Amino acid sequence: MGFINAVTGKVDSGNLGCTLVHEHLLLRSEAVTVQFPHLYNEEELFQKAVKAVKEVQARGVKTICDPTVMGIGRDVRFLERVALETDMQIVAATGIYSFTEIPAHFQNRDIDYMAEVFIRDIEVGVQNTSIKAGFLKCSADAQGITPDLEKVFRAVARAQKRTGVPIMTHSHPSSGNGLKQLEILQEEGVNPKSIMIGHTGDTDNLDYIHQVLKYGVYIGMDRYGQGPLPSGERNKTLLELLKQGYANRMFISQDYCCSQDWYTEEELIKILPDWSVTYLFDEVIPQLRKEGGTDEQIKTMMFENVINWFEGK
Ligand SMILES: [Zn+2]
Repeated sequence: MGFINAVTGKVDSGNLGCTLVHEHLLLRSEAVTVQFPHLYNEEELFQKAVKAVKEVQARGVKTICDPTVMGIGRDVRFLERVALETDMQIVAATGIYSFTEIPAHFQNRDIDYMAEVFIRDIEVGVQNTSIKAGFLKCSADAQGITPDLEKVFRAVARAQKRTGVPIMTHSHPSSGNGLKQLEILQEEGVNPKSIMIGHTGDTDNLDYIHQVLKYGVYIGMDRYGQGPLPSGERNKTLLELLKQGYANRMFISQDYCCSQDWYTEEELIKILPDWSVTYLFDEVIPQLRKEGGTDEQIKTMMFENVINWFEGK
């Protein structure tokens, strides 16, 4: 068993329990948050996160990994406050979320400089606290892996190799960029078992998914209730992969945001009518069971894979 950095201290990997591996307790446009703070009611955001965390706690969740990093408003003190209020084990991340560019500060410095910044978050603490990050996050979407993003992927890879914490990516399966992400991470020599290619469940293209799995990595079937595919389609793909023996490679999660500022509330209800923090438990898992998913497979995906991902096994 290894120790993992949660926001309230170290957790033995054997004590992670039922884990939601990709949920956001607070997600917002970072520049807007800093420059126009009057737009946000901090107490309301905190109460929203606490309420959502308690709802999944009531369904047995013991740990939440929150991949909110630079670019989407990471606030590690907020995560700590929610963890202390609810007793949820919350694991924070370090890295950069962008689909195109990175700030000039990083553009004009080298990859190792960026890696050192991430390593400090893991070994010393995030945002001048002693709260340590437990995993690394990098992203690329439909725009592809731009030169700036490639720099982030390489820095994340180097930080992984120094610290041993795992990597979660945001990928865009319909442009096939999970494979390009893997080429870069492999070139940097990252252990594939420390990698999760996030959002792989956004496609039902089994050929593509098999190509990703061939690397020996984990994949995120992690956007139930949102994104380009309805749950029924997501489950069909998941069940097929379960049948093929991939329970030990897949994570199920929702990429839910307890609060977010990208869309107005009215708009959000229109575009994501199913979005809720308990959707996986109330709708998806019962449906999976009905269609042949076993308790053992669900336990593997929600309890065991996270231990092995953190341990690089
Ligand atoms: Zn996310």
